[in-house]
Amino acid sequence: MGKMKCIMVHSVGNFNVGLSAIRPPAEGEVLIRVEWTGLCRTDLKLIREGHRDLILPRIPGEEVVGSICQAGTGAGGFKEGDRVYVYPGVWCGECPACRAGAENLCRDMRIMGFHRDGGFAEYVTVPAKSVIAVPQGLNSDHAVFAEPLSCCLNALELGGAMMGKTVAIWGAGPAGTLLCRAASALGAVPVCIEPDDRRRHGIDGIKSTAGRKYDLCIVAVGSTSAYEEALKSLNSRGRLVVFSGLRPAKSSMSVDFNQLHYFEQTIVGAYGCAYRHGILALDFIHSGRIIVEDLITHRMPLEELETALGLVEERQCMKIILWP
Ligand SMILES: [Zn+2]
Repeated sequence: MGKMKCIMVHSVGNFNVGLSAIRPPAEGEVLIRVEWTGLCRTDLKLIREGHRDLILPRIPGEEVVGSICQAGTGAGGFKEGDRVYVYPGVWCGECPACRAGAENLCRDMRIMGFHRDGGFAEYVTVPAKSVIAVPQGLNSDHAVFAEPLSCCLNALELGGAMMGKTVAIWGAGPAGTLLCRAASALGAVPVCIEPDDRRRHGIDGIKSTAGRKYDLCIVAVGSTSAYEEALKSLNSRGRLVVFSGLRPAKSSMSVDFNQLHYFEQTIVGAYGCAYRHGILALDFIHSGRIIVEDLITHRMPLEELETALGLVEERQCMKIILWP
């Protein structure tokens, strides 16, 4: 097989656009021609600061939609040209987390773009069991939202039953906005908390909770002060979902356990998504129950990744999707 264009991260903070060998599909794998790869804040963190799950050198990119161009032996069910979304995880299927339906917590989890090469390339080779067919009539540039939306659906699932619940979501970026739309689609009443005037206007959010209480609080910004406000904004039996990670140096904060005790409140983490969330997410987008088109502010070629990262860093964009 030939070579392909890709983004290669050599060390933390150092990447280039180069050529790399196309890896032919092994048994049970498929080779995918990438159409779109979504860029998210995690990619910025991974490239500029590193990440717990990153093994270098690496082609990043964990939000991928493309078409099958070759299937290895035993990768049945797919044929050349099929459009697919790639669930970014590879899981063992046997450990306690996998058996509990939380393969994102698999003890052997290998994430595309972190442990193995991802979609900032012309081609990506992935296990056939991690791909999901894109429904007919759903545009690929919309289907690429399946990954970030899956993470939102996982967070909402961990938040408990949604119908009629009041939900406060911190952050009006792509994740916060998708969380709001998904909470709404699930029958909850969400409000977005965003101190940045420019961002808040896009989503009709509020600047702060100002003492109001909510059944569910989800923080989609890596900010300690947002977590502090969220803790203060919990109703009795309220739940706080830790959706955004914090910088390691700022990841400890004080929590009044008596507050949790007297008001029967819960704090729960959320990280990534399971395979089934991908199927759900594609269905939400395909059926129009969750609109994503207006969230795409930039479509850029892979070569402009540096510019794209700058836009994410400066919050000058909503969703950026890249083509190879
Ligand atoms: Zn497992």
